[in-house]
Amino acid sequence: NKQVILRDFVVGFPKETDLYVTSGTLTLRVPEGSTGVLVKNLYLSCDPYMRGRMKKSRPGDSYVEAFQPGSPISGFGVCRVVHSGNPDFKKGDLVWGVTGWEEYSLISAPESLFKIKHTDGIPLSYYTGLLGIAGMTAYVGFFEVCSPKKGDTVFVSAASGAVGQLVGQFAKLTGCYVVGSAGSKEKVDLLKNKFKFDDAFNYKEEPDLDAALKRYFSDGIDIYFENVGGKMLDAVLLNMRRHGRIAACGMISQYNLQQPEGVHNLAQIIFKEISMVGFLLTEYFRQYPKYLEMVLPLIREGKIVYVEDTAEGLENAAGALVGLFSGKNIGKQVVVVAHE
Ligand code: NDP
Repeated sequence: NKQVILRDFVVGFPKETDLYVTSGTLTLRVPEGSTGVLVKNLYLSCDPYMRGRMKKSRPGDSYVEAFQPGSPISGFGVCRVVHSGNPDFKKGDLVWGVTGWEEYSLISAPESLFKIKHTDGIPLSYYTGLLGIAGMTAYVGFFEVCSPKKGDTVFVSAASGAVGQLVGQFAKLTGCYVVGSAGSKEKVDLLKNKFKFDDAFNYKEEPDLDAALKRYFSDGIDIYFENVGGKMLDAVLLNMRRHGRIAACGMISQYNLQQPEGVHNLAQIIFKEISMVGFLLTEYFRQYPKYLEMVLPLIREGKIVYVEDTAEGLENAAGALVGLFSGKNIGKQVVVVAHE
């Protein structure tokens, strides 16, 4: 059983060498009397929150516990049940949920897994992103937290990523004007041509983010879907409209800093009566069936498209995960452990 192991707690930007792969043996059965399931991992999801689990946590630090050095890391993934001690799961079932970064995992509390029912014409890997946590995050963050209306002006940062590409498409389907920022020309082209954002810009080439936003939003921003924090948030605050809404989804620019950057323009929240709401998708899983009901027809009708970036094999998993923090991924970063 190949496994991806955390070498030691990470300080600063993570490196590929912070993780390594080992091989061991495993009996492909759940232990006698266990109500767990043994799964074969097919696709693993690379997610920015996993960085928080790579550091030594102090009480109150993070909403998920730290990985243990010397042990395999875990995250969301798509798996096939190979042996079950649980009456609700049988051999061959496809599921998604939290699993190990390894070939096979023993999941002792399978109640937390979602059974995959829709596979007709839908790539299984979508359950790591579009039909998994990234999709749910875009859905609740945009529709619940931002209360969008037709005609609203929407700005999305990290817009070509797993969550951002969907927020932009949901905004277009709602009749909003939407602009995204991303870190390369290739990503900007994707935003404009594939995801049909009204416009997009490369934030790395903008010396003055405030001026850049004024170029695209001459009358200001109604909704900001926040994925990056730091300087971008500061510039956005200067460009929000009265009664604007900010969904604080993530602040990836801050995750590797030992000293988070200060935000200078926070008082704009008062002057413009802005609501800025943080949210965690883990609080919204009960809405998953409702989300599927909305999104599956849109996928089948080609009204929602999704771009994935796949790394083949557990040997390439570390590079894929740490690549999130330099913008190496184009679209949702997936690790393929096995195709079936
Ligand atoms: P992405 O697929 O967007 O990958 C991360 C991207 O972030 C990179 O590709 C890069 O794109 C951008 N990035 C990395 N470092 C920086 C930086 N210093 N400044 C600006 N941009 C940077 O990831 P996800 O879509 O999975 O996640 C997006 C955000 O959503 C994250 O902040 C994440 O933590 C958050 N999230 C929150 C959840 C919640 O429940 N609240 C659940 C899931 C995700 P680029 O080339 O454009 O710089």
